[in-house]
Amino acid sequence: MNTTATPSQPNIDRGEVNKFEEIASRWWDTQSEFKPLHDINPLRLNYIDQRANITGKDVLDVGCGGGILAESMSARGARVSGIDAGETPLTVARLHALESGIQVDYRQITAEELAAERPESYDVVTCMEMLEHVPDPASVIAACARLVKPGGKVFFSTLNRTPKAYALAIVGAEYLLRMLPKGTHDYQKFIRPSELETWARHAGLELQDLTGMSYNPLSRQYSLGNDLDVNYLAYATKAI
Ligand code: SAH
Repeated sequence: MNTTATPSQPNIDRGEVNKFEEIASRWWDTQSEFKPLHDINPLRLNYIDQRANITGKDVLDVGCGGGILAESMSARGARVSGIDAGETPLTVARLHALESGIQVDYRQITAEELAAERPESYDVVTCMEMLEHVPDPASVIAACARLVKPGGKVFFSTLNRTPKAYALAIVGAEYLLRMLPKGTHDYQKFIRPSELETWARHAGLELQDLTGMSYNPLSRQYSLGNDLDVNYLAYATKAI
């Protein structure tokens, strides 16, 4: 269901945010349900950095959670702000940044609210593994487009709505391998690349690249490639 978010009705699914609040204490445990995010982080960090050269740039990470990507971008020399709808993930993120001595500015606010407050403020906006958890993903994409400066770069990642994604991301990861808690993902909310492309275009973004992120259960390694069927990264630019 697509609803247009208004300030009185933020684009937040409380049930989804609560799921992350409950498990947030384990965010930095690399053997916990957050293991997949830790495992894919070097791949997505390099993907972003190769295209956006983040050193010295103002970067916003939307739906940053406990800060896995945000911290790693700061360590690469970016000035990073992270926003999330959840309170506990941000508490964990702030504590972890203190421990690692890494500077990230964390704030509890939605992308839509921040876009109204600080439009065209960031060189780079990232929004990873978050669109499939919100009521209106097109509204988040539009907010990211508004937040980025003209000529800036926006990165998304999400799960594709294919039978293969259902088999691997839900049946495999949640039920068979128990990598993720049951109910982590809702198949109906998965997003096809064509949908993401349309929403990005309507928001004034031009899609530059789509790259798949695949898990090989035998080697237990993730890799980037052409297979968009399950998890994928998208890179888009905003015209100058
Ligand atoms: N982007 C991070 C975390 C992904 S988990 C990473 O990839 O490492 C999804 C995150 O999205 C959770 O922290 C959850 O609290 C957040 N989230 C869910 N709905 C949101 C919304 N409407 N606005 C902002 N954050 C949201």
